[in-house]
Amino acid sequence: MVLGLEAQAGSTSLIQALLRHGYDLDVEGDRLRIRPADRVDDTLAELLTQHELLPIVLRLVAMRRLARVAPKAVVYASPEARGGPGRCFSCGDPLEHPTAYGRCGPCDVAADLFYSRSVIEESAGVS
Ligand SMILES: [Zn+2]
Repeated sequence: MVLGLEAQAGSTSLIQALLRHGYDLDVEGDRLRIRPADRVDDTLAELLTQHELLPIVLRLVAMRRLARVAPKAVVYASPEARGGPGRCFSCGDPLEHPTAYGRCGPCDVAADLFYSRSVIEESAGVS
């Protein structure tokens, strides 16, 4: 077990655990950046490679930024996203079904994390 997580923990649980344990997650270019890097041991590195965290963290970072600079009633990841059938209203990526409405998978997880009050406060250093 790493960070108190079971081996089959999902991406949401992993990100929440990382933030709860004081890790800072961000995106640098097209790579996930995790700090402090010296606290990423082999076991955690292995766990990070098993999960596709980059698309989620990318959206979470964008949602937090946009919520500050251009807030809307519903959190979103891209100002250019228009939504509509087959398109994620948050980031604009195609949805699995061409007539579906809503958020894509990574935006769904990122929005859950965004609205998870404790995660936001803890990662912002608010107690
Ligand atoms: Zn999306």
